[in-house]
Amino acid sequence: MAKDRLICKQCANTDMNKMNFTEGGKYLYCNVCHSKTPLYDAFVVYKEDVTDRVEGIITMAQHMMDSGDYEHAIKKFKNALELAQDSHAAWWGIFVCERAFAAYYGFEDQYGNSGPIVKANILIDLIQQYANPAIEYAGPDIAALYQEAIADDLQFIANVANGTTQPPKKKRFLDRFF
Ligand SMILES: [Zn+2]
Repeated sequence: MAKDRLICKQCANTDMNKMNFTEGGKYLYCNVCHSKTPLYDAFVVYKEDVTDRVEGIITMAQHMMDSGDYEHAIKKFKNALELAQDSHAAWWGIFVCERAFAAYYGFEDQYGNSGPIVKANILIDLIQQYANPAIEYAGPDIAALYQEAIADDLQFIANVANGTTQPPKKKRFLDRFF
């Protein structure tokens, strides 16, 4: 089982009930001291069977992600997956980067169409391809945080499916991502 831990670098809080991912899953937000930690500092241990090399690649990719270099970050995360296909941090990193790309382009599809239905379809795709493996491979505590981080997206998808295309009323919905 995964031995992953998350830590707040400001106050050393490791209670995963007192933290969540913020800004589209790019940072760890600490509910004790109300500070945020980039993921490259937040993950203190990965899995016992993951080599230092994989961990190094993921840390490098998280640095790239943090600086907004999503394209190179995705390549690095994919390198990590070639070595350790069950690295939830790599799957999550790809999800965060791909979602940031999609948001940057206004959730347009390849034909330039946009709108709630297109956005919902793009989100379904990204969640299925990248967020779900992250949730599947993470230990239960971190999986819960991933679930929470995509909750607004899942709500949006459900609203579109129900014909109520309003985003969730929480103002947080937009703040979280941009
Ligand atoms: Zn803290």
